[in-house]
Amino acid sequence: MAREVLLPRTLDDLWEIFHAEPELHLYAGGTDLLVKLRSQPPLPSGSPSPLVCLERIDGLKGIYEEDGLVCIRACTTHSEIMKDPVIRQHFPVLTKVLSLLGSPHIRNMGTIGGNICTASPAGDTLTPLYTLGASVEARSCDSGRLMPLKSFILGPGSVALQQGEILYGIWIKKDHDFNIHHFEKIGQRKALAIAIASMAALIKLSGEGTIEKIRLAWGSVAPTVAVSHTIEDALTGKPLTENVLRDAMPLVTDALSPIDDVRASAGYRRRVATNLLLRLLQYKDA
Ligand SMILES: Cc1cc2nc3c(=O)[nH]c(=O)nc-3n(C[C@H](O)[C@H](O)[C@H](O)COP(=O)(O)OP(=O)(O)OC[C@H]3O[C@@H](n4cnc5c(N)ncnc54)[C@H](O)[C@@H]3O)c2cc1C
Repeated sequence: MAREVLLPRTLDDLWEIFHAEPELHLYAGGTDLLVKLRSQPPLPSGSPSPLVCLERIDGLKGIYEEDGLVCIRACTTHSEIMKDPVIRQHFPVLTKVLSLLGSPHIRNMGTIGGNICTASPAGDTLTPLYTLGASVEARSCDSGRLMPLKSFILGPGSVALQQGEILYGIWIKKDHDFNIHHFEKIGQRKALAIAIASMAALIKLSGEGTIEKIRLAWGSVAPTVAVSHTIEDALTGKPLTENVLRDAMPLVTDALSPIDDVRASAGYRRRVATNLLLRLLQYKDA
């Protein structure tokens, strides 16, 4: 049985739909949800819950600045974010990630909110947003709340949205002092590949080559993004050298809890993700 698709144009229209249909299914670009629905068995007869498309709601699109923070509204597409001058200047790690996400078609359709709400361990936008300390804003018809992205992602496919809430936007502090923004993902091929392992890194490197501050996050190697203050503390204050990175590699191995799946074995993921730390050597003399 075909589902009804509703296309609200404003947030007020959306809240009215929520009021009438609390069991609805939201989507934005549909590049995750529609693929998932297509792989499910046909719906039984009856009246299935409607699909509600958010992509025509202008109030959920765009990027703006407020009090030293940048807000990326949830239904902004990956292509729009990549082109934004503020994002390019202040968060090059995000631009780099998005340039590797899917294909041009997927980037034109897919949204940052959809990537976050899918909460896949392989969701590419999550690692840079964790390193940037992003917060997310959930809104319902009568309230809004802000929380760290780390608290919003509960596990694979699970986020802390309550009934009647949507993800409204992602907030990132504009001023930071990291001078190295790094992201790399390893997939089965270069393009259109879901990550087998990925790593985002932000480093404040002194003129003498000392790591003054570092944030690291790994994707596809744990139920959610893997982060470890132990590793960051072990590297802080040390020179960016091969020996220092090699000494930290056992800590990385310990921090990861990958699984076997169709793309790679757990052991391969762990090895690759640990080795990604050595890629930071390219910035040694930067
Ligand atoms: C061929 C292909 C290649 C891909 N490659 C990659 C890749 O390389 N890396 C990667 O990370 N992903 C990849 N993806 C997955 C997907 O494109 C991204 O996750 C994309 O960002 C999802 O955004 P969307 O707007 O299409 O989400 P949708 O499918 O519209 O929604 C996904 C989920 O989020 C919820 N949702 C969406 N917006 C909101 C909101 N504002 N508030 C509350 N809930 C919301 C929906 O209810 C749904 O559960 C790929 C997908 C395809 C089909």
